[in-house]
Amino acid sequence: MQRLLTIAAMGLVAGCPVAALAQAQPHEHNGVCCHETFPPDSIAVAGVPGAAIHPDVPEGYVLIEGDIQVRLADYLAYVNGADATFGTVTFWPVAPIAFDFAANVNATNQQRAIDAMNAIAARVGVTFVARTSQSNWIRFNDSTGNNSPVGMQGGQQTINIVSWGSQFVIIHELYHSLGFWHEQSRPDRNTFVTINLANVCQNCCSGSSCNHNFNIVSGATTYGAYDFDSFMHYDRLAFSVNGQNTIIVNQPFTSQWQNAIGQRNHFSYFDEITARGIYRFSFDRWWKPGAAGNTSGNLLNPMNNPTFAAAYNAAPAGVFMFIKDNANYPAVGTYSKAMTIQAPNGATLGN
Ligand SMILES: [Zn+2]
Repeated sequence: MQRLLTIAAMGLVAGCPVAALAQAQPHEHNGVCCHETFPPDSIAVAGVPGAAIHPDVPEGYVLIEGDIQVRLADYLAYVNGADATFGTVTFWPVAPIAFDFAANVNATNQQRAIDAMNAIAARVGVTFVARTSQSNWIRFNDSTGNNSPVGMQGGQQTINIVSWGSQFVIIHELYHSLGFWHEQSRPDRNTFVTINLANVCQNCCSGSSCNHNFNIVSGATTYGAYDFDSFMHYDRLAFSVNGQNTIIVNQPFTSQWQNAIGQRNHFSYFDEITARGIYRFSFDRWWKPGAAGNTSGNLLNPMNNPTFAAAYNAAPAGVFMFIKDNANYPAVGTYSKAMTIQAPNGATLGN
């Protein structure tokens, strides 16, 4: 996931041109829920390609890519070419993230949201707490679409949900709020997938072209290999006009991933590891020689020790030590305390 990190993702609408707005409800194709279409009651914004407004999207924001809320001013700058910082994300501070519910969310759906948050907290070092007086928080709202802003906005931010029955749709939207974009909007995505605009609907997205839903967020930061398995990836038929693939998985990955992208039923390895790196558990440490350096190192600000032995000596006993990059590191030394080593990008330890 590109993670800052664009983690990226979404799915959508086979055969949507006929009465597109009326059809733009979540539905299934090939077992993949194409939930990330624009809500049926959204309206295109004149003069702002790819953007829509919706009654449940906060004032000053528009929807892009089907389910992402962005500030209109930021998006206008982006479409006019000032995109270098568009992907910049504000992550939440290390503290419980507060949430509450709009009055229209019933008890069953409140529990579904809580279950989704608990599923994240079981794998990532974040906790969620019912809001008391916190100044920054997530409000869940029962809506006609699924959408969220990317990262912490400051004050109240809204996650709109229609697909309450799909835990991974709720998790996907929560990941947006945690700071992740769609996987296929990574700056390096063209190496891994090809967008076939000939199959993209030209009037399904609030009545206009869906091409902009495949934009690259060039200001986003990535971590790890391109993740076809991410729940932040669109599926192959995203915004298709004709039931033909809009996302073509490039060789040599085609046979493995063409029909698998867009899953909404599990955490991929990097869905978990990247978010866990940013929101680290107390027992996690990330290490990267030459980084800015911090003994509590996380993915974005790793420990900076010249050798593995030095990083080992600086870290508390019992931690999970993540080696950030793929390289061969000197590691000669004496090791006598327990530690679990992981190298998500691959690494070797040598002389
Ligand atoms: Zn999304």
